Amino acid sequence: MALKTPQQYLDSLRDGRVIYWEGERIDDITTHPLFQVPLSLVAADYEYHDEHYGDLRRYNAEDGGQAHRIYQIPRTAEDLATRIEMMRHTSIGTLVTGVFMALMSVREEVARVNPMYAENIERLYRHCRDNDLRGAEVITDPKGDRKRRAHEQDDPDLYLRIVERRADGIVVRGAKLHITAASLVHELVVMPTKGMRQEEADYAVSFSIPVNTPGVKIINRSFAPAELNSFDYPASAHHSCPEGFVVFDDVFVPWDRVFLAGEAQLASTLARSLGLWERTGGVVEAVRMSELFVGLAQLVTEMQGKDSDPVAQNSIAELITYAEMLRMSLDYACRHFESTDSGMVFPDTLAINAAKYYYAANYHQTVRYLHDLGGGLVLTLPLEADLRNPESGQYIRKYLHTKKGVDIEARMRVYNLIRDLTADAYGGWQFVVALQAGGGLPAQRTMMNRTYDMARAKRLALAAAGVAPG
Ligand SMILES: Cc1cc2nc3c(=O)[nH]c(=O)nc-3n(C[C@H](O)[C@H](O)[C@H](O)COP(=O)(O)OP(=O)(O)OC[C@H]3O[C@@H](n4cnc5c(N)ncnc54)[C@H](O)[C@@H]3O)c2cc1C
Repeated sequence: MALKTPQQYLDSLRDGRVIYWEGERIDDITTHPLFQVPLSLVAADYEYHDEHYGDLRRYNAEDGGQAHRIYQIPRTAEDLATRIEMMRHTSIGTLVTGVFMALMSVREEVARVNPMYAENIERLYRHCRDNDLRGAEVITDPKGDRKRRAHEQDDPDLYLRIVERRADGIVVRGAKLHITAASLVHELVVMPTKGMRQEEADYAVSFSIPVNTPGVKIINRSFAPAELNSFDYPASAHHSCPEGFVVFDDVFVPWDRVFLAGEAQLASTLARSLGLWERTGGVVEAVRMSELFVGLAQLVTEMQGKDSDPVAQNSIAELITYAEMLRMSLDYACRHFESTDSGMVFPDTLAINAAKYYYAANYHQTVRYLHDLGGGLVLTLPLEADLRNPESGQYIRKYLHTKKGVDIEARMRVYNLIRDLTADAYGGWQFVVALQAGGGLPAQRTMMNRTYDMARAKRLALAAAGVAPG
């Protein structure tokens, strides 16, 4: 077992992977300007001796040696709490490696159908953990016409499928879209996007392969250009991560890397397994973001002399409600954890789905309070360059004055963060991420309908209605 250094991580990405971005085929992503910010974020998670987060990043693996905590299988409430804390201080490019938690959580169920798949899951998990690799969550198919099943599409490749079965493995063809950090990781961990029926057996496929496997091609996209200054773009300049449009052009996968190849009854098990961990990640981020919103709202209000205004206080109370509901939901979900047969614990499924739903369904209205409090400067504040130019800067300093004690640059930074987080590069991305990442609202509604204790609710309602005894 060997932990990598940030440099070893970067070196490991020079492996011949086929990467495109802005019309260019990029041979070495580690030297390309577009990749600098996202790579520096993932590389920082390899700083195991960092004085603040080093201990949070490492754990002692069950079979000896140390590994990144993203691989720690939580077995107690404390493990889960430490994992959540680690997630708060880890880049999304590393967090997607949580896909192995999803696989490990369904290993027993998979073993009941085919023990070889379960052994493959376990071996790949150990291989990635022991070599300090990162893996992407590769689930979402292009899906073509949403009304038709996978095998009914005009083009049979609109869902990833097995096109050939050989003695030594399978050959797959298709694409997976929106894959966070696909170009920044080592392994593509592929799962079906949803349940499959028997007639769609070739689409019930799951496996993990290295990013540089022949036939894999990744086309990147991000909200952030290569260089942004951090005064004007305090969020986007530091927190971008490309999503990948990942093509599997007749890719060979050896049997020892296959987790599912045709047993349709397992497709939804695997597809569902990831939802919980993805949504937990979404809620952790939502808690962080919603606390920031409260702080920004209070600051912008005070800086403009509106702190005793009842309308401003009402808006801030709305933001506090949002932040507290999310914080409490996450806390509840972790305290009331569930566990698998082998003792792996995970957050309460209903609570996490309800929290992710609440976050996504109310995100856009909640941001409105911040925009309302901030006013037009949220969008029209001049840039740092104009502040630093003495000719224009003098006017900016004069006319952005509100009252004694309010520093102009501090006020500008607060505005820039509001704009960038909610109304510009990062903000535009986040508007869609809140809704879609981890599955759209209907995905959480389905899980809530499935996991709510309906028998109890019906019993209570019947008793209250006088139909049955209480
Ligand atoms: C920034 C970002 C990062 C992401 N990262 C990842 C990742 O790392 N890995 C990954 O696998 N995926 C990732 N996703 C994909 C995400 O999970 C999907 O975008 C989401 O599940 C919605 O699927 P879709 O985009 O195909 O849209 P659609 O399936 O078209 O869904 C859009 C809307 O249409 C509804 N809809 C769908 N089908 C029907 C139907 N038959 N009838 C009626 N309504 C329907 C949906 O419920 C939804 O409300 C990411 C997405 C984003 C935006």
